[in-house]
Amino acid sequence: MERPLRIPAISLVLLVIAILFLSLSAGGDAPTPSYRYLVVIDPGHGGKDPGAIGIGGLEEKEITLPIAQMVYIKSLDDPQLRVVLTRRDDEYSYPTDRVLAANKLGADLYVSIHANAFSSASVSGVETLVNETQNESSPSYHLAEMLQEQVVAATGAVDRGVKWAPLFIRRAKMPAALVETGFVTNPREAKLLQSISYQSKIADAILAAIRQFLREK
Ligand SMILES: [Zn+2]
Repeated sequence: MERPLRIPAISLVLLVIAILFLSLSAGGDAPTPSYRYLVVIDPGHGGKDPGAIGIGGLEEKEITLPIAQMVYIKSLDDPQLRVVLTRRDDEYSYPTDRVLAANKLGADLYVSIHANAFSSASVSGVETLVNETQNESSPSYHLAEMLQEQVVAATGAVDRGVKWAPLFIRRAKMPAALVETGFVTNPREAKLLQSISYQSKIADAILAAIRQFLREK
């Protein structure tokens, strides 16, 4: 998001107060974090890696970033959560490096956002993936179930369920899942996935699943 060019005077006053407060409180030991859970959201692909290519040349990376950014923005009013994105722009980084960065941060959860593709345009729906080594009682599987349920409920998309696959998130030290938010190769879903209101529904659902998981863990 761009910052507005004109900043009202009251905002400047508040900013100065905030900076003063922060500089005063930063004097001693490292401050304890005010949030309770650190969640890493990974907008799949980016930069030289477009991900799946769909209807009209729609690229998966164009969908994953705005959804992730919405999750981030919607999380800001929750003092318990700190959401960190693995990319904030159209830039490439190696998927495993994103997971290793989350490990380094000591993140509590890792959610990778993707969109699907198939050779037949009639195929549509939402599915959530966990690494093949996770069994049905693992925290990652539970996270995947919650993501799947919430995103399907919010979008009304076909429920393709939770599936196993060999994934880069196997390196995650925290519960991790990958949500496929729809098919860029399906005309209806490709259109929906580009709309802000549909992206917003998905972001709300992902955040709801994260909150549910953290509440129940
Ligand atoms: Zn992908």
